Amino acid sequence: MRRSYNIFPVKIRSYHCLRLALINTMIILKYAADLKSYLIKVRSTNASLGFVPTMGALHKGHVSLLKKSKAACETTISSIFINPTQFNNADDFKKYPVTLEQDIFILEKNGCDILFLPDVNEMYPEGTVLKKHFDLGYLKTILEGKFRPGHFQGVCQVVNRLLELVTPTHLFVGQKDYQQCMIIKRLIEIQNFNTELIICPTLREESGLAMSSRNMRLNEQEKEYASEIYRTLLSIQQKIKPGSLHCLKKEATEHLIKKNFKPDYLEIADAKNLNPVVEWDGITDLVILAAAFVSDIRLIDNILIQD
Ligand code: AMP
Repeated sequence: MRRSYNIFPVKIRSYHCLRLALINTMIILKYAADLKSYLIKVRSTNASLGFVPTMGALHKGHVSLLKKSKAACETTISSIFINPTQFNNADDFKKYPVTLEQDIFILEKNGCDILFLPDVNEMYPEGTVLKKHFDLGYLKTILEGKFRPGHFQGVCQVVNRLLELVTPTHLFVGQKDYQQCMIIKRLIEIQNFNTELIICPTLREESGLAMSSRNMRLNEQEKEYASEIYRTLLSIQQKIKPGSLHCLKKEATEHLIKKNFKPDYLEIADAKNLNPVVEWDGITDLVILAAAFVSDIRLIDNILIQD
């Protein structure tokens, strides 16, 4: 395994036993079996269990999800796992930021009750060659699905496994990954999970840049520059009116290219189903979505237009 989670000096079967040694009460579990048996106790009281899955390199956006869960649920569990099967680009996987010690500190500080910190064998006991296929329909072929083939199958493998293990009453996810939210909604439906999906607003830097773990790979100047993506979305929001959206979309895409971004897409779509909207009736709720490279770092963002 390329990454090591051995941040503690001694090898232990579960970090559970460190509970007394730490000043707070967050329990860290590495193994699915330990997690399951621990959660039997938690779930036996019928109490609500909020879940915030992450890939680590935590920022204030992740913390906002955690806070929502803390406010709504009696127990909050988070997970950190960099899921190899959702990366269609090996370099992106290799360079994905890892800040585990800091992440644990952030989670503890913000009152997370349980952290699930599995390695790849716990998440993929039968290996990472995918055997299960989820019927995601057209959603997997458009936007992120088109530019990142296989990405959403990978997301579903990991979210499905996590939901089976954690069985949360509430699942907290970020609107920042709008299409992913729709995919998870579908996964919950087709797999019949008894979990309420809660989509939380995107947290932004002062510049407007959507917070993202990948931003850690940008220097300050690039971060400032990258906020142009959000400004471009805002300018569409300001200019949009009923009728053809063709010119507006074209102008915005050209603007990004002129500013040296390499956009994969800029789309104006029906917020309910992500179908592209060419002629707007002025009533349908819309989402404006963009994916663009700044240097070799791919960023995504979106904003909603609704009544
Ligand atoms: P990640 O660690 O990138 O897989 O993200 C874990 C969760 O945090 C996902 O549900 C994301 O949508 C959410 N998230 C990521 N960035 C933000 C943000 N800026 N604001 C709110 N939620 C976010």
